Amino acid sequence: MFNTNELQELKSLLLSPKKISIIPHRNPDGDAMGSTLALYHFLKKLDHQVVVVAPNEFPDFLSWLPDADKVLVFERENDRAKKEIECSKLIFTLDFNALHRTGDVMGAYLETLDIPMAMIDHHQAPDSYAKYTFSDVTYGSTCEMVYHFIEALGYKESIDKDIATCIYTGITTDSGSFRYPKTTGATHRVVADLIDKGVDNSAIHNSLFDNSSTNRLKILGMALNNMVVLPEYKTSYITLSQEELDSANNQKGDTEGIVNYGLSIKGIEFAAIFIENKEEGIIKISFRSQGDFDVNQFARTHFNGGGHINAAGGKSLLSLDETVKKFIAILASEKK
Ligand code: 5GP
Ligand code: MN
Repeated sequence: MFNTNELQELKSLLLSPKKISIIPHRNPDGDAMGSTLALYHFLKKLDHQVVVVAPNEFPDFLSWLPDADKVLVFERENDRAKKEIECSKLIFTLDFNALHRTGDVMGAYLETLDIPMAMIDHHQAPDSYAKYTFSDVTYGSTCEMVYHFIEALGYKESIDKDIATCIYTGITTDSGSFRYPKTTGATHRVVADLIDKGVDNSAIHNSLFDNSSTNRLKILGMALNNMVVLPEYKTSYITLSQEELDSANNQKGDTEGIVNYGLSIKGIEFAAIFIENKEEGIIKISFRSQGDFDVNQFARTHFNGGGHINAAGGKSLLSLDETVKKFIAILASEKK
């Protein structure tokens, strides 16, 4: 995962206190927030002046992460965020592989900067914008990579409860609570060490998964009700229209994870969810698969997206109905 020369160069750079910005992808999830905040706590311990700048708001179910309230939101606090980023001597970009993953506006802004960047990420096909690129698709989460990054720099002993809590969170959410195929013995050894360092693992699961609003469950109910199963393609899909979401007062994060229900049906190997977002004028899509079917490739080819082999996302500018029609037509031509 680590190129030794780059690691050594970065290590010497980190020996003297600096202004450093850390950026996750747009619509940050548990791994994006966990990894950026873990690195934030670690770099602060090394006496750096650190700020996490999220492209847009992060979901409420992550707001308990240590120092989540210190995260700047680029979209909301644009001037301040830019000021912080521009006086940085180093920018870490975490849990994404291309600058546009921070959004079109922030991505274009980051392109204009002449500040060295360091990428830590586990998505396929990393772009080459970073001076230091730590990219490895064999890892189930960026958080697990951050643990090894800190270890490789020689500071493993500095991982305290806060850092461990952030890392544990991203490993948990990106591995579907330790069940996806990239969960290895090494992952569990990292997790064991995090628990030894004081992580309250049971409480974290509670905060992540037993913290729903009533409305979120109503949205889940609507989603399951809307689910269509196409056994001939071993596929299921869910739609949620803006109207349906509004009727249940949808909040950021409420639809997270719903796509996985499609995969829990016996015999289903490919699941999708289509979520209408009138404000952005798009249908946001999530894809999940079990086994060899490569949803990263599917999302890239047909829906302007990407991700991993078994979990990816994309978007469509067509209407919700048209998007679903397109999806079914692709299935008909590709899967049979
Ligand atoms: P989710 O479906 O949970 O939003 O995302 C699943 C995976 O696909 C995540 O690793 C996420 O970063 C990636 N992903 C989601 N949406 C997009 C997208 O529009 N473009 C790309 N390149 N990756 C995406
Ligand atoms: Mn991730």
